[in-house]
Amino acid sequence: MSSYPMSPLMGQMMSQPLLISSILDYAAKHYPTTEIVSRRVEGDMHRYTYRDCHVRARKMANALTSLGVTMGDRVATLAWNGYRHMELYYAVSGSGAVLHTINPRLHPEQIAYIANHAEDQYLFFDLTFLPLIEAVAAHCKSVKAFVLMAGRERMPTDTKIANLLCYEDLMASSSDDYQWPLFDENSAASLCYTSGTTGNPKGALYSHRSTVLHAYGSAMPNALNVSATDTVLPVVPMFHVNAWGLPYSVLLSGAKMVYPGAALDGKSLYELFEAEGVTFSAGVPTVWLGLVNYALENKLRFSTFRRTVIGGSACPPAMMDTLIDQLDVQVIHAWGMTEMSPLGTAGGLQSKHLSLPKAAQRKILQKQGHAVYGVDMKIVDDDGKELPWDGATYGHLLVKGPWIISSYFKNEGGDVLQDGWFPTGDVATIDADGYMQITDRSKDVIKSGGEWIGTIDLENIAMAHPAVLQAACIGIAHPKWDERPLLLVIKRPGQDVTREDLLHYFDGKIARFWMPDDVIFVEALPTGATGKIQKNKLRDQYKGHLLPTA
Ligand code: ADP
Repeated sequence: MSSYPMSPLMGQMMSQPLLISSILDYAAKHYPTTEIVSRRVEGDMHRYTYRDCHVRARKMANALTSLGVTMGDRVATLAWNGYRHMELYYAVSGSGAVLHTINPRLHPEQIAYIANHAEDQYLFFDLTFLPLIEAVAAHCKSVKAFVLMAGRERMPTDTKIANLLCYEDLMASSSDDYQWPLFDENSAASLCYTSGTTGNPKGALYSHRSTVLHAYGSAMPNALNVSATDTVLPVVPMFHVNAWGLPYSVLLSGAKMVYPGAALDGKSLYELFEAEGVTFSAGVPTVWLGLVNYALENKLRFSTFRRTVIGGSACPPAMMDTLIDQLDVQVIHAWGMTEMSPLGTAGGLQSKHLSLPKAAQRKILQKQGHAVYGVDMKIVDDDGKELPWDGATYGHLLVKGPWIISSYFKNEGGDVLQDGWFPTGDVATIDADGYMQITDRSKDVIKSGGEWIGTIDLENIAMAHPAVLQAACIGIAHPKWDERPLLLVIKRPGQDVTREDLLHYFDGKIARFWMPDDVIFVEALPTGATGKIQKNKLRDQYKGHLLPTA
């Protein structure tokens, strides 16, 4: 794949392809007794070690071969975070096939579209999704068989699915005598579709090389800082950007892994964190809202949990303050996207910041952070001209690097790069120290009288009000100013605030023209398949809303 010139004097080091199978080999050889603990959808807990996982992943690789799966074939999963899902991560990619993780929260029609587009040969699924598979099976044209990820005793006696196999039967009838094949590290390893808020979902096709490099880069101290003394619980699902690469980076770091299965509510998570001594976790802000509220309402503290990475959408400063100041949990604010495997930047301080007052440090931590080595970034104006890193000028954020997409699967959407850079669709500032801060997604930014209003800032301020649980800001058409901000707010249970009081709360915190024109209190906000607020739905819903200033 390399199109770069060769030197007349080449280095004389071993050339070994960077393959995903080597990560599990390493974990099983060097951390054989380190545990993987899973809350199963069957209701009980399952525990085993990296050594056991290695045996079962190789058995499953043999099972895939006997099913006729060959290099490059797509094998899909519809599954929660658990040990069987991880076995497939290694068995499928390790044997040279391509793991296609499907997001079960997508609409069934979209699931069938994705399975057909990927031409999935087999589809492995958790018990929870049996009704979903029964609904979509007939529409998944390329799938030769569906595999229920459970034991024989859970197999349905009466089902519409004609070609249904049992995971544990496949496991039991296969030998662990399996040698991972060696092949070009640029071969495809896994496939993940973006949620497709507009148009059909598009596939990001990761390679072995990009996955291994991302695992290295994301485990580094200035990024997620995972080590063999950690116990890691990925709340971020394995069906969304490979759980931010944790099923790879945790193994190459030798940390203990805890998988929460389907129970992602505050109480279940809190109990699992305590029972297994979790030290580090990762998830989107909406998940932390549940866990933080549960802990605070029940006056609970964490005994071992000390660090979490929050990303996927902006971490509200109020949430960061609560986690650090009240629950003693450090927050790493991270940014990335499906097209970036996903990690791009991670927050943290540099030694020169350590003497700063707490409030100044917090301002730095609130930014989306510093580029991880392996990711290059820049901001540009509408004409593509590079903008200064002064922390104030905002522009379109572009990235490049060895774990960033060069084109979508099957070249959907055509050429996506601009002069070799990937346009992220985000608007950001970068300061002189290299800290990036997202202002907005370009499609969410509000254009008022030729100026931009960043919705994330407005939401963050609203969520710092003690009576506000969640807030979303959208642009509403305005006859004079094009668009004006409308703020939608969910109140905290038992708390009250009026529209006027909330608007007063913004006084002095923003430029006057940023002031929301209206506030509407709502019971819920629509979230999509990845737990993010769906602003496109809100824009549709409030399209005709008459602003007091209009
Ligand atoms: P989608 O939501 O389209 O499926 P992703 O899940 O890959 O795609 O999300 C990527 C987008 O999420 C980014 O482009 C950015 O807009 C947003 N995002 C991710 N992390 C953050 C963050 N820490 N702060 C603000 N926005 C974020």
